[in-house]
Amino acid sequence: MCNTYAMNVSVSPFSGSKYHENADRAFSRNFFRGGRLIEKPSEEPCCICGKGIKDLSKALSAEVYHGGEFVPADVEADNTDAGYMGWYYIGPECAKLAKSAGAKVRRTK
Ligand SMILES: [Zn+2]
Repeated sequence: MCNTYAMNVSVSPFSGSKYHENADRAFSRNFFRGGRLIEKPSEEPCCICGKGIKDLSKALSAEVYHGGEFVPADVEADNTDAGYMGWYYIGPECAKLAKSAGAKVRRTK
């Protein structure tokens, strides 16, 4: 037991096995699937799995610091720190995962 120091969150941002592939797809307006051009508006990628978030009006965000770690729920991050990265959109499933791992997650303003 340690009550003095915050525990690290056991899940990391940008750690999904297909994060980059999914995020590239979320960002790009057009992509090919099975030889056919699919057109779609760009989406904000989830910060864990990279999948595009469909409904930003209900989206949640998680805070990232230390150059790529989630801020624990009970920590006030120093946003002047060089490693502070700010708030990132997170999808509903990944938000549950991140919350249960101890990350600070909030409704996007
Ligand atoms: Zn996700």
